[in-house]
Amino acid sequence: MKTVSSLLDKAWHERYRKISALNIRSSIYDVTNRCNLRCRGCFFFSSNEHQAASEEMDVEKWRQFVRKEKERGVNLAILIGGEPTLCLDRIEAFYTQLPTYCATNGQIKIPRDRFPDMMVGISLWGDEEDEKILRGKDTFAVSGKNYEGDPYTYYLYTITPKQVGRIESVIRKITDVGLKVHLQLLTNDEHVDGFSWTEEKLRDVRAEMDDMLDKYPDTVISCKYYHEIITTGKMMNRTFGWTECPSVTEPMDNRNPRPKRLIRFIRWASDLHTMHRCCTSATRDCSTCKDGAAYMSWVMVNKREHLRSSKDLQNWIEVYEMFAKLYRFIPW
Ligand code: SF4
Ligand code: SF4
Repeated sequence: MKTVSSLLDKAWHERYRKISALNIRSSIYDVTNRCNLRCRGCFFFSSNEHQAASEEMDVEKWRQFVRKEKERGVNLAILIGGEPTLCLDRIEAFYTQLPTYCATNGQIKIPRDRFPDMMVGISLWGDEEDEKILRGKDTFAVSGKNYEGDPYTYYLYTITPKQVGRIESVIRKITDVGLKVHLQLLTNDEHVDGFSWTEEKLRDVRAEMDDMLDKYPDTVISCKYYHEIITTGKMMNRTFGWTECPSVTEPMDNRNPRPKRLIRFIRWASDLHTMHRCCTSATRDCSTCKDGAAYMSWVMVNKREHLRSSKDLQNWIEVYEMFAKLYRFIPW
């Protein structure tokens, strides 16, 4: 195995130095079991995770819980749901104590006077046509107005197989409202007809994602190695899936041998006691999982594997930087 110093020139070494100092320890929290949408393909509702635990209603208990999470070493709280913006007091319990990222469908505007620099990721599942089929409405029409020009917000654009060949119009819309975008792929958890990936579609979408990054480098937060990994499901001749996934809740991780994984990662349900198996759902088939954060983390926890050549290590650095930008550990 080669050393980091022998593989990087001065400029790349400086980039490496910045991210290796970060030591990110994230966990994920279901803020609520409720949502103001019901998307077809939502892993949370399709796997009945909304019924796994009853919500803790006392906001003081949320504050105490976050304090304990901080003591546990968590330095990045990722809030999901349901729809977190239905419970601003609970978001505040995190935001006042920890670096916090809030995933939302963008239909409710987070008040910036209360959460001035909280990172917000708005889910988007395609253009108007796909959004109406999968989510019952054109969510962008509302979220684009709510968050136009917001410096701490980006779109998390879940590309569906039907979007292939039509991604650019969505990227342009996002550029026009002055926001950034990160790309990931739909996992068709509810087997909606026509929304499952084929090898050919995956090849095409990879090329299109690369093209978008080249054409819109100021809007798209991504890198080509991530596109390769998420579309092929392969990294260094290894195949993504249950035996490799890094985003499994640590106290529930009984895999043997245990793969490289996120240290102290837990996904908590909204009763603040129950844990979920992983960052998506326990009913999801790992062999079809396209969760972007799990893929990014897969690369990040496997640094040693990338100490083979300068190019491999540079790829690793770019994925780590992308993750750090998305959670604002480094500027974009
Ligand atoms: S907005 Fe998010 S949480 Fe709500 S139903 Fe859609 S995917 Fe699920
Ligand atoms: S469903 Fe996805 S995130 Fe969950 S354990 Fe399987 S591969 Fe990992």
